[in-house]
Amino acid sequence: MTGDANPFESLQEQLDDAAEHIEIGSDVLERLKNPERVLETNLSVELDDGSVGVFRAYRSQFNGDRGPYKGGIRYHPAVTRDEVKALSGWMVYKCAVVDIPYGGGKGGIVIDPREYSEAELERITRAFAVELRPLIGEDRDIPAPDVNTGQREMNWIKDPYETLENTTEPGVITGKAIESGGSRGRVEATGRSTMLTAREAFKYLNKDIEGASVAVQGYGNAGSIAARLLASELGAKIVAVSDSSGGIYNPDGLDPEAVREFKNETGTVSDYENATEELTNEELLTLDVDLLVPAALENAIDGELANEVKADIIAEAANGPLTPEADDVLADRDVFVIPDILANAGGVTVSYFEWVQNRQRFYWTEDRVNEELERHIVDAFDGLIDQYESLDLPTFRTAAYVVAIQRVLSAYEEGGSWP
Ligand code: NAD
Repeated sequence: MTGDANPFESLQEQLDDAAEHIEIGSDVLERLKNPERVLETNLSVELDDGSVGVFRAYRSQFNGDRGPYKGGIRYHPAVTRDEVKALSGWMVYKCAVVDIPYGGGKGGIVIDPREYSEAELERITRAFAVELRPLIGEDRDIPAPDVNTGQREMNWIKDPYETLENTTEPGVITGKAIESGGSRGRVEATGRSTMLTAREAFKYLNKDIEGASVAVQGYGNAGSIAARLLASELGAKIVAVSDSSGGIYNPDGLDPEAVREFKNETGTVSDYENATEELTNEELLTLDVDLLVPAALENAIDGELANEVKADIIAEAANGPLTPEADDVLADRDVFVIPDILANAGGVTVSYFEWVQNRQRFYWTEDRVNEELERHIVDAFDGLIDQYESLDLPTFRTAAYVVAIQRVLSAYEEGGSWP
């Protein structure tokens, strides 16, 4: 990552910027800028060699005015309390942008999962589930996957929760395997909303996405699926992709599925045979492409690097990939940024569908999931364009926060004060 901005301060700055365009008192704004509560715990777990590992873990419940807290759990050595707080806040406004009945939460464990065996990771996850148990529940707080977690970890949380609660409650967690109550289309959902929002942005700007060149930073769940769908459904040309070990480039286009298979086999995209050049991540972010998709972690682009960005459109598949300075620079340079709270909202939207299916114990086809997702994302995009134009807002991100803050504010005001 190039920037070292504190993500929680970035979130608060984004909210302050949007609040200038809304009638909101500084007292209520303060409430909307801070989490309601944060769990900080130290998980003590026996490792395979008999020693005890101690792992710092967090769960932030940012705001529950519109429904249960909702948000993923991240395993990464750089997880901090402020990062988890920021990510939980972004969830509040993301759920509000796509108008699904959730608040926002997020969790994380400070760990590099590559250094632990599967059995150790299972014990660590189950220990976290026990700590989370009093806080979570299908009407309280519903975790989901994030960086370095997936269906496996979700099932490791669901199982102890249901055992200890002596119930079956698959809706306590989303992102589960299909056989455990997961939804069709959930694995693809974040990449799919990134693709859909890019399609709408190109249309809005009267640009042709077929044949458009695309660079994708981060080739995990969000990035690799966005790349595949941009190519297969819209005919875009993926010219560069990267992961934490570096990037690859081919001006004639890479086959996103073949790169994904190569990464699955070797653990990295580097050395992929059909690339013409290797790139650093900074080189990838500053390539002369039509669309840039940052899909790794926060602060990928800081103010300095933003001056070098040559893409016309950025679709933020990752959460918080631009520092506030980068955002200002790109706005001055008329780069159209599709904000994270819309571009990657497909993940939480299909999590919502999963939760609805769990509660009804009635499961949808993949086509129905994808149709409902497209409707939510396109409606949200159109609603933001409406505010962006009618209020003459400085950026599309500001429009997203204006819409989202107003929805959270209405729910808070309609609820009244108690006690
Ligand atoms: P993932 O663990 O599947 O993939 C992350 C990828 O980023 C990996 O390929 C990793 O190698 C790469 N990466 C890490 N550091 C990098 C660096 N410095 N430069 C380049 N690449 C780097 O995670 P994911 O689920 O795809 O999440 C990626 C981003 O998308 C995160 O910001 C996450 O919060 C966001 N997101 C994910 C979902 C989801 O449903 N998975 C939903 C919403 C938002």
